[in-house]
Amino acid sequence: MVRTGRRSAGSRLAAVVAVLACAIGLAATGCTGDRDGFRPGTADIGDPYVPGHGNGGYDVGHYGLDVRYDPSTDRLTGRAVITATATQGLSRFNLDLVGLEVRAVSVGDAPAEHRRGDGELVVTPRDGLPRGRQFTVTVEYAGVPTAVDDGALGSGGFLHTADGAVALGQPDSAATWFPVNDHPSDKATYDLAVTVPDGLAALSNGVPGPKSSADGWTTWRWSERALMASYLSTLVIGDYRVVTGTHAGRPMVTAVAASLPATGGAATSLARTGAIVDFLASRFGPYPFDSYGGIVIADDRIGYALETQSRPVYGPGFFADDRPNPSVVAHELAHQWFGDSVSLTRWSDIWLNEGFASYAEWLWEEHDGGRAAQRNFEIQYAATDWTQPSVEPGREQMFGSAVYKRGALAVHALRRTVGDDLFFRILRTWTTERAAGNATTADLVALAERVAERQLRPLFDAWLVGGSAPTLP
Ligand SMILES: [Zn+2]
Repeated sequence: MVRTGRRSAGSRLAAVVAVLACAIGLAATGCTGDRDGFRPGTADIGDPYVPGHGNGGYDVGHYGLDVRYDPSTDRLTGRAVITATATQGLSRFNLDLVGLEVRAVSVGDAPAEHRRGDGELVVTPRDGLPRGRQFTVTVEYAGVPTAVDDGALGSGGFLHTADGAVALGQPDSAATWFPVNDHPSDKATYDLAVTVPDGLAALSNGVPGPKSSADGWTTWRWSERALMASYLSTLVIGDYRVVTGTHAGRPMVTAVAASLPATGGAATSLARTGAIVDFLASRFGPYPFDSYGGIVIADDRIGYALETQSRPVYGPGFFADDRPNPSVVAHELAHQWFGDSVSLTRWSDIWLNEGFASYAEWLWEEHDGGRAAQRNFEIQYAATDWTQPSVEPGREQMFGSAVYKRGALAVHALRRTVGDDLFFRILRTWTTERAAGNATTADLVALAERVAERQLRPLFDAWLVGGSAPTLP
């Protein structure tokens, strides 16, 4: 990917001189409109696992989304009001947006020039945006949304289903239904109003707001007040049995596709959400969000479950033959701490999400009267291919066994090495200190060494990336 924001040292110096000239009043022309102090934001955030994703030059604080979707035509109409802060002087900036027609863009109150590139919306505000300036960009758009096929990583994005639609996917999804800085390193809060024909449910992340109806259409409202990575946003529209209640004083919203059995494996597994969350909170620290839930969809093209924030989405395959599957619920709920609250800085560290979520399955299984975590560790240890690293697994292996299972082995090896007290103190310190933030493997190693007051880097290296089976602790 070519990065458009790069300039030579000479031109950077010229820009600095121009800004200084502004600051001390030497410039001949008004400085706000002086393009010398501004440069384009980048069209790529620089994560080699997701070329073209994310953008540089600004940081989003909030997405206010208002969308209408008509399943009979598969047409979506949207208005996004995005509040962001310039992290450099910006002459123009990019948002990620796949497909869809953009009708109008404004920055603040002023119409802004815009053009489309491959998966990009390029916005040129009338005036440059100085570094540190908070601004609002409003995008009016419409069209038939598309799914994205990311080759080895599978498909994600907006999928038209028999009774509605599902917007879901990792690492691709958000840009297929709203303009976004589509990378987990730029987290934001969200408000969503989604209007669908009466009788259909429209589910998303966070706390439900008031519903309203007019002219055969119902608007559902959702608010995610904790910072959220864009791939953790979801939109599920269709015929669902929605159950709304509270758990631990917070809203709990679960939904199962109406075409699945009312008291079957999916429904009974989802009904354990509160109990599983409470168990995980007893190990990882307080639940990080202000709502709970889960959604089981019936479309078997979704062959995965995803930890969409506060309300994971489960594909139907996990409950095949109507079997209960609390294990997958434990996995996705563990991600609320590991991945959702403490998020990746870059995708090459995805074991930080999947290693801990896989380990949580072992913890839950033991708690639920099944196999002990130590036994799962031993079985997995014997089955592991140590030539595959957990960190920097390569883009094709982002969802490979080294990320999940070898990651879980590393977590348990840490526990065996430092003991239960320190191990769970490390986990709780991590989820507390890094809550609502982003982190890397190096951050985890440094934190573990600080809490345990001993060197642990060689242990992490051996278990995460070493080329041969490490000695059992
Ligand atoms: Zn996972």
